[in-house]
Amino acid sequence: MLHIHSIVNTIFNSMTYIIHEDDGKEAYLIDCGDIKPISDYLKENGLKLKGVFLTHSHFDHIYGLNRMTKKYPEVKVYTNEAGKDGLQSPKLNMSRYHEDVDDFIFTKQENVEVIGVGTLELSSINSHLSTIYTPGHDESCLTYQIEKYLFTGDSFIPGTKTITSFPRSNKQNAKVSEQRICQFTEGTIICPGHSTI
Ligand SMILES: [Zn+2]
Repeated sequence: MLHIHSIVNTIFNSMTYIIHEDDGKEAYLIDCGDIKPISDYLKENGLKLKGVFLTHSHFDHIYGLNRMTKKYPEVKVYTNEAGKDGLQSPKLNMSRYHEDVDDFIFTKQENVEVIGVGTLELSSINSHLSTIYTPGHDESCLTYQIEKYLFTGDSFIPGTKTITSFPRSNKQNAKVSEQRICQFTEGTIICPGHSTI
């Protein structure tokens, strides 16, 4: 059975999710923040990291990527074209505007796989992942569905208003995206981009 392990990160309570089969050997991440809890969990459960799916490229969802790809050099990082740009730009990923974090630039751009909407087979977890384009909060926003789990990033955080005040935000798109996401929420477990507790 599919297992989702949730980690609340130290920067802005952003979320990282580790996805694997109960008796599996490989895992995927949704977003990548604090490295230690991820590494500890993978080690304890004998899991090898295969890939990271980014909900979008704001720094609080990607800041662990450089350390992660140093540890696991083969790991693929999945995002769209706008996300690929965000990984290279402290302005677009917003790290430039936060005094308490260093400018973030992803150093292993060759590991990035650009994906569009559609379905990917993930043999490591015997499931497929569906990608839905949900721009508005940022142009790079993707929502992912794996079985009954819906990873919405910052495009839809239940109980909070979607933030659309960033350079690549678009209020109208955010509204449309939210409506799109709501078509998928019946019977799903929503795994948002920030902890609201
Ligand atoms: Zn964001």
